[in-house]
Amino acid sequence: MNPNSPTRGAAIDLQNVSKAYGSFRALDGVSLHVEPGEFMTLLGPSGSGKTTTLNVVAGFTEVSSGALQVGGRSVVGVPAHKRNIGVVFQHYALFPHMTVGKNVAYPLSLRGVSKAERERRVAQALDMVKMRDFAHRYPSELSGGQQQRVAFARAIVFDPPLLLMDEPLGALDKKLREWLQLEIKRIHRELGTTFVYVTHDQEEALVLSDRIAVFNKGRIEQVGTGRELYDEPKTLFVGRFIGDSTVLRGQARSDGTSTALDVAGQTVTVPRRLDGSDTPVVLLRPEKLAIRRPGQMADTHNRLSGTIAEAIYLGSGSKYEVRLRDGSSAIVRSGLSEEGFRIDDPVELCFAGQDAKLLADDKSAD
Ligand code: ATP
Repeated sequence: MNPNSPTRGAAIDLQNVSKAYGSFRALDGVSLHVEPGEFMTLLGPSGSGKTTTLNVVAGFTEVSSGALQVGGRSVVGVPAHKRNIGVVFQHYALFPHMTVGKNVAYPLSLRGVSKAERERRVAQALDMVKMRDFAHRYPSELSGGQQQRVAFARAIVFDPPLLLMDEPLGALDKKLREWLQLEIKRIHRELGTTFVYVTHDQEEALVLSDRIAVFNKGRIEQVGTGRELYDEPKTLFVGRFIGDSTVLRGQARSDGTSTALDVAGQTVTVPRRLDGSDTPVVLLRPEKLAIRRPGQMADTHNRLSGTIAEAIYLGSGSKYEVRLRDGSSAIVRSGLSEEGFRIDDPVELCFAGQDAKLLADDKSAD
């Protein structure tokens, strides 16, 4: 383990990778490039293909078609134990009859590392996860979070250029998860190894990742930083999966440069149009919607009327669900200094056309 060289991770390249089980395609033409040393998260709903992608990279699952390179070399057909990749799963999978120290030493024993070197590297790996004092305990004498730290140490002790993690914090409670997220971030920074992390939790993905690949039905919809996915979603699915959003649907008319939508008896206009024949919808982030009592909105443009359906006090402000006249709802966030509203209060919402995203409708994103 050499924590001082920050670019020692392996690049990963998947090109048009598919995996079929009978006629079902678990992966359907997945292409993804991960930079050396990058923290890449595979994010998506259950069954979208995240674990299959990880298993393909690890060598636990063979691809049906497509190309796969790790560290610049094709690994198609190379068995998992010859890929030199560290793996951490949701369930710790420590050997119950071995102490923590023996568990962490195991990958080194497999590789024929001498006893003195083994001891040095086990101590270093346990230091990295802050578990050195526990080396003589058995897994049954550890909490879930501690067991996962040991699993982590075991995955990094042989200095792999790539670490794969499949929902490693999924079985832990929220507080512990949030704390271990920061620990994983620190370890990534210190090791400089490439990390690929699977989760269905978008907040976890935002906390951890350099970039996120959003999966849906065996395909990648978009790859980008958290900010890119939040500010510039390319599809409605991505816009809905990352962060809170309001989707406005209605009869649409487009001219050369703009699109007007009839939403809940009112008209909104966005200064863009879609190419092709897709049905346009408008996606808005909560902080882009202003909220006022009726008659108090200065701007007459892009106004929507509704009533408060849910009010959530957040400390730093409030979040409201507003029921619009057509029964759809909008999510709005207001600041601390702004007026508070109660359930059933009538309100008006307003947004600037340039703050709205115009996207192709996709009912499966709801
Ligand atoms: P989760 O978050 O629930 O783990 P995921 O995004 O990781 O979901 P995958 O485990 O990659 O999803 O599974 C993708 C799809 O492939 C699912 O529909 C799953 O049922 C299917 N699948 C996975 N492994 C097999 C298998 N061995 N045989 C048949 N179908 C499979």
